[in-house]
Amino acid sequence: MAIIDMHVHTDDSPDADIPAATLLARAAAEGLAGVGFVAHLDLNPDDYCYGGFNAEGYKRSLVRAEEKAQGTLLLRGIEVGEPHRFEDAAAKVADYSKFDFITGALHAVREGGMVLGPEAWGRSTPEEIIREYISETLEMTTTADMDVLAHFGLFRRGMAMAGLDTSFDETDLFPEEVDAVLGALIERKIALEVNTSGLRRLEKTTYPIPSVIRRYRQMGGRMITLGSDTHREPWVFYGLEEGRKLLLEIGFSEAYTFVNRTPESYSII
Ligand SMILES: [Zn+2]
Ligand SMILES: [Zn+2]
Repeated sequence: MAIIDMHVHTDDSPDADIPAATLLARAAAEGLAGVGFVAHLDLNPDDYCYGGFNAEGYKRSLVRAEEKAQGTLLLRGIEVGEPHRFEDAAAKVADYSKFDFITGALHAVREGGMVLGPEAWGRSTPEEIIREYISETLEMTTTADMDVLAHFGLFRRGMAMAGLDTSFDETDLFPEEVDAVLGALIERKIALEVNTSGLRRLEKTTYPIPSVIRRYRQMGGRMITLGSDTHREPWVFYGLEEGRKLLLEIGFSEAYTFVNRTPESYSII
């Protein structure tokens, strides 16, 4: 399984607890070709990881991991929460030029707070909150300095926890809005992440759902990354093989990684 997992959190994030060196050794043992590490950089006070980014500590962790890399590719990334709102502040804490890739993530919508948990879903109709999420994702992908769009469709996690139906298809409900996001990714050469962490949750699907990935390909999009969103045991590198199969089924034969903020493709066949 020569996959590069482009979304792996280390114990440098407040919500994750495995050291980078341990994860890298584990990746080698499982036959991964590489690991793209990310640390949460959240400057949104609503976020659990708010203020938890320590640039120096994270750098040291990755240096320690690299010493034991034994041929497994190590890539340095950060996951910036709502970068379109906090970019100036983020740039003060992290020097983007020191990273291989910057992942932009929308965990909260402007008016309604975090969409990860059940609490956000009583404020308005689910359709309205999803629409807000997609439109704010467009704002993010058209303005923020980022290489990868994380978990587009993450709202299903909070919806499922709130007992709401997640079996809808946003390419039917909001076709123009979804196309606008995918078009912005293609135009700005931002990769679409296929995040496999939803496969183990109630909603049992990737973020984004397969029809969004299919639509992205139909529109000419090729830059896909695979990411497990690993945080802790027992869900280390979970779902990557299923994600890879899904990509092959949709017609992708390559996925992407980023080195020094430059995209590079590799075969997933
Ligand atoms: Zn995230
Ligand atoms: Zn993450």
